[in-house]
Amino acid sequence: MDFETRAIHEGQEPDPATGAIIVPIYQTSTYIQEAVGEHKGYDYSRTANPTRRALELCLASLEGAEYGFAFSSGMGATATVMHLVSPGEGIVCVDDVYGGTYRLFSKVYAPKGYDFEFVSHDGVAAAIDDRTRLVWLETPTNPLLNLVDIRAAVDAARNAGAVVVVDNTFATPYLQRPLELGADIVVHSTTKYLGGHPDLIGGFACTNDPTIAERLAFLQNSIGAVPGPFDAWLVLRGLKTLALRMERHCDNARTVAEFLDGHPAVEQVLYPGLPSHPGHELAARQMADFGGMVSFLAPTAAEALALVTRTQIFKLAESLGGVESLIEVPYDMTHASTSDAPFAAPPNLVRLSVGIESADDLVADLEAALVRSAARA
Ligand code: PLP
Repeated sequence: MDFETRAIHEGQEPDPATGAIIVPIYQTSTYIQEAVGEHKGYDYSRTANPTRRALELCLASLEGAEYGFAFSSGMGATATVMHLVSPGEGIVCVDDVYGGTYRLFSKVYAPKGYDFEFVSHDGVAAAIDDRTRLVWLETPTNPLLNLVDIRAAVDAARNAGAVVVVDNTFATPYLQRPLELGADIVVHSTTKYLGGHPDLIGGFACTNDPTIAERLAFLQNSIGAVPGPFDAWLVLRGLKTLALRMERHCDNARTVAEFLDGHPAVEQVLYPGLPSHPGHELAARQMADFGGMVSFLAPTAAEALALVTRTQIFKLAESLGGVESLIEVPYDMTHASTSDAPFAAPPNLVRLSVGIESADDLVADLEAALVRSAARA
């Protein structure tokens, strides 16, 4: 079955008790046992829950994975996956990953002896050597929208015997499927495009490797960073419209990027869909379209901070990937935890999560805010 059909049906049968077409929210912590160990496949909801199971089956299928694991947040998924490696083992990580990922790696895991090497998006394959046990990629990166060549990293990692993890939050499986490019694990913040309606926090990890899957199942249950049934249900509902939403996010982002490109109050637009973007060709090869995120440089940090208060439809807020358009300054907001790092996002960077409103309204909103910028300049 095609992606759009699986997004609506995979892992979801009408409820056997009532015929309800939608998977119920099984809001229960425990399950009755007829005799010790005799139950219908569920004994405790940290270990497994039918609503969460439907999500795990559906989203794993969209990524082309055999095994999927839902988490209570993207960071919960990331923190759990990192338990696949041990202190002293080498980890190569792209340097402009999401600020929270960098904070977790540099301030929580590194002090425990995890041996991180943070490298530029175009230096990953060269940094992998025999000591490398895990490679952490994010592509496109948040918030600079750099592209990482997944296949090149996979080839280098294969030679070294390292596991490749790709945070696929920005692209979603509709635009990019890292497992098909040879990656071992895909991680998501389902808070973003997969949920799609800024109303939940969630995470996900999936793989085709049975040994990794067995370990992840053990870690998911042992660490316990699992989503409640209602949050799992919200993501499952979000997936049903993922294909439609992503089409519109991409179209709107393209329109917005083209409008910003060359605007006198904008220094530079960072959008992989623009032919001038250094990762344009790689993005065209590795992704089905260029995504819904657009970043740009304002002339100064002060101008960036002023601009984000002037838009009406683009709301000033953290997060991304929802139907509503959002605007923010990563240096002071989502990426404040990387502002002391050598590769920090510049303070004049503005990040847009382009929603699915009318493209004309979005451009008019930015135009009005930028006209006032140009007038003040
Ligand atoms: N990965 C990326 C690329 C993100 O943008 C985020 C959050 O912004 C996360 C992971 C963390 O996800 P969560 O906020 O659901 O913990």
